[in-house]
Amino acid sequence: MINCNLTLDRTTLEEVIEIQRLDYNNLTVDQKLSIAKVMELFNKPLKEILDDSTTDLPYRICRQCDKVMNEGYVIDAGDTYCSDACLHVNISQEEYLEMYDDGEGDSYYTTWDEIIIDPQATDTQLVGVIPKCLVDHYSLECVSFNVFMPPGVLKHLVKRGHWSDFMTYYQDIPDMIANPDYAGQNPKEPNSVEIYKVVNDHVILPIKLNKESGLFLSSFFILNNGTDKIQKRLRIGRIHPFSFFIK
Ligand SMILES: [Zn+2]
Repeated sequence: MINCNLTLDRTTLEEVIEIQRLDYNNLTVDQKLSIAKVMELFNKPLKEILDDSTTDLPYRICRQCDKVMNEGYVIDAGDTYCSDACLHVNISQEEYLEMYDDGEGDSYYTTWDEIIIDPQATDTQLVGVIPKCLVDHYSLECVSFNVFMPPGVLKHLVKRGHWSDFMTYYQDIPDMIANPDYAGQNPKEPNSVEIYKVVNDHVILPIKLNKESGLFLSSFFILNNGTDKIQKRLRIGRIHPFSFFIK
């Protein structure tokens, strides 16, 4: 597992955003996830990350425009470019076709996978990347911003009657973790964070910390009387709108 550098500050995030010449609020979910992952790796200089073609993370960075991307060109199994325009600044279409060599070469167009949750998984799986501001606010001593789900949690969901809630929304869980509507902490559970998302229902994602293996999604369910409960929890300060955490 990659160690997260907990001394990373907002300036670092702003640097990454500036590099992309994009406004954070206008980024797609995938790009926000990518930034979280870039930050996670950011105890190395960005250029080293750019040069690291061995990473198996689900994104790459364009050598020409520094944009984070989920799909693009790979040249000579190393350099990556987001678009024809960025490719052709460096390599002509004729040169590319020669290197592509009808699919035989080490140069090609490809995609890097997003987080896909498998409800039948028998191994621990990655289900999201938590915003750093929540880790900071609750002083979670995590080894990574990654949130995992051990297979035992799937059994717990069945046992507690939450399976249909999970099956309704599981594909949205990476987005829910990256972009909460509200977040807070159960007073009985230090070293944890609760994520709330208002979809058709009010869903809650309790995330706990195992000091050895990191953050994990411990349950998932629809909050009955969600509107009332959220209003009450806001009043007593158990939860806050997500904007509260972004300094
Ligand atoms: Zn580019």
